[in-house]
Amino acid sequence: MRVAVDNNARLAALAEATLGVGRPMRDMVYVRWSVGVGGEMGHVSLDAEGPPCHCGSRGCLEGRIGCGRLLAECAIRGVELRA
Ligand SMILES: [Zn+2]
Repeated sequence: MRVAVDNNARLAALAEATLGVGRPMRDMVYVRWSVGVGGEMGHVSLDAEGPPCHCGSRGCLEGRIGCGRLLAECAIRGVELRA
């Protein structure tokens, strides 16, 4: 059996494009959002002077909407989250 290993966001996009909701579409954009924002999209810089990101850039999308940022915003606003 042939096995391929790759990034989870890329493989999820491939699955949606070939077997899922993207199958009838000519073009598709897949955005994975869980703990972070999957793929290169999460590291698109929205603000070159923004906070540093673990990728080495600054002001990345993931820093704005990633799980860590959302949890920090909830804490600032007094929203208590429970698992
Ligand atoms: Zn980044």
